[in-house]
Amino acid sequence: MPSHAEQGWLAIVGIGPGNRQQMTARALKVIAGADIVIGNDTYLDQLESLLTRKEIIRSTMGKEVERAKAAIEYATERRVAIVSGGDAGVYGMAGIVLEVLEHTGIDLHIEIVPGVTAANAAASRVGSPLSGDFAVISLSDLLTPLKVIEKRLSAIFSAGIPVVLYNPKSRGRPHNFARAVTIARKYMPDTVPVAMIKNAYRDGEEICITTLGEAEKHEDFVDMHTTVIIGGEESRIWRMGTDVKGIITPRGYHRKYVY
Ligand code: SAH
Repeated sequence: MPSHAEQGWLAIVGIGPGNRQQMTARALKVIAGADIVIGNDTYLDQLESLLTRKEIIRSTMGKEVERAKAAIEYATERRVAIVSGGDAGVYGMAGIVLEVLEHTGIDLHIEIVPGVTAANAAASRVGSPLSGDFAVISLSDLLTPLKVIEKRLSAIFSAGIPVVLYNPKSRGRPHNFARAVTIARKYMPDTVPVAMIKNAYRDGEEICITTLGEAEKHEDFVDMHTTVIIGGEESRIWRMGTDVKGIITPRGYHRKYVY
């Protein structure tokens, strides 16, 4: 990290699922070294005590392009950290900042700081559902047409691996979750376990473990703060005594070892 911004300095920082404990040491250090921190309200609130004596630029959801442009402009003169929930490279700010930067031709020192993405955060709350191959898909059709999302859902569910759904539902797209479940049921049995993890590592964390056949009954649980994990063909419910704890997807050790 240069001590001053002779070349221009921009960090794109993933700040994890929403709790200081889940931020990386590098994310904390880079934010501490910034003059200006840019982000939307939810993320800035999470960082509040780290932001004293810094210039804060608050943005709103849906204004990502403006935010990216502003970050680049400020970074030509001062040290800027643009913060993004989870990992900045997973449905986050990294891609759009780099695209805008490419167009401007400005030469900046760029650091992309990885963070714990919702898939990992959510999975850790329900055992080990993503032990081997898995796929991630966003049900938001703001930037990707619904037809394309549906085509991808069919392709990944036909692979029989666990699938993580980001942006499963919002007021603007109330039916996308039900649609995804319908597509999943074409390829996977109703017994496949499903975990819904709301507000992982944040206030109001809630978990619902169910099956693919019953998933639609829990539709009301799902909102824009929820990550849904639909197990793969080998996934099973993880129990301790009679308690349902989560999901285990065996990676394959049982085929090779006795334990
Ligand atoms: N860049 C972020 C994802 C942004 S897309 C990341 O890497 O995590 C926003 C979606 O992420 C939400 O709709 C939700 O599905 C998921 N998500 C983000 N934080 C979450 C959390 N703390 N708990 C559960 N899901 C979360």
